[in-house]
Amino acid sequence: MISTMKIVFLGTGGSWPSPERGLPSIAVQLDRDCILFDVGEGTQRQLMMSSISFMKITKIFITHFHGDHFLGLAGLVQTMTLNDRKEKLEIYGPQDTVIQVTNFLNLGYYSLSFPIYVREMEDSEVIDFGDYTVKSIRARHPVHSFSYILTEKDRRRISKELMDKYSLTSHEVDVIMKKGSINKDGNVYTIDDISDGIRKGRSVVYSGDTAPNDILVEESKNMKIMIHEATVDSSLEEKANEYGHSSARQAAEIASRAKVENLYLTHISPRYRADKVRILESEARSIFKNTIIARDFMEIMVQV
Ligand SMILES: [Zn+2]
Ligand SMILES: [Zn+2]
Repeated sequence: MISTMKIVFLGTGGSWPSPERGLPSIAVQLDRDCILFDVGEGTQRQLMMSSISFMKITKIFITHFHGDHFLGLAGLVQTMTLNDRKEKLEIYGPQDTVIQVTNFLNLGYYSLSFPIYVREMEDSEVIDFGDYTVKSIRARHPVHSFSYILTEKDRRRISKELMDKYSLTSHEVDVIMKKGSINKDGNVYTIDDISDGIRKGRSVVYSGDTAPNDILVEESKNMKIMIHEATVDSSLEEKANEYGHSSARQAAEIASRAKVENLYLTHISPRYRADKVRILESEARSIFKNTIIARDFMEIMVQV
């Protein structure tokens, strides 16, 4: 069971950084885990300027091994070591993640103060982390790359009416959720007494770098949050697709076909400075109204 689901955009640029945008990294804060999707160069400093503690990161999912998506890993790991981290860090990614991460982390002189677990995922693999799952979707990019879908597990919906009926407080409901039951005034109450249905788990999908991908549409149906790359505007679409990228217009089409609730565009090319980025926004909004161009340090609380 997860209560908090907070998304923090740490870097919303693509290819190389600009004064306005850092390189790709998105943090998702859950109750017991803090996850990074991609760790572009400069991510550790972005973390220090955000509401997320760099020492609290538990898992990192790398979409692919183009420099803009992973070159921040070594710096972050070395800073964690200098701050005497002891907790394990888990790193997940596509094919060749073990060799890429091992080589990269072996640069320079330092001794790790904590264990690192590295795991390569297969295409369309789902890893179960207890309260939530993460699924890898093969992206359309020149190197082996993933989109990722984080899904909170469905849970029983608590009815206020039933709580009132049995005079149960929220603290007592917490006890039921943790221990399975509670004994109050000689009566035993379980989840069945206070639940009136299922609450669907929240889902967040992050495209990573990709040309428009039909599989992603199928996999993201009706999700709450889609974070999709939008490297360029529609005039450069053909070239972008050739290199395994999407335009803002195409990202909006993907969101519209998947019927997601909200679309956040990221991986914005450094050619779009503050004023020009509006072109991307208007092209996307004409197709999918609930589109927002993500900015560095933007935070979203994903509501139940
Ligand atoms: Zn990229
Ligand atoms: Zn790439």
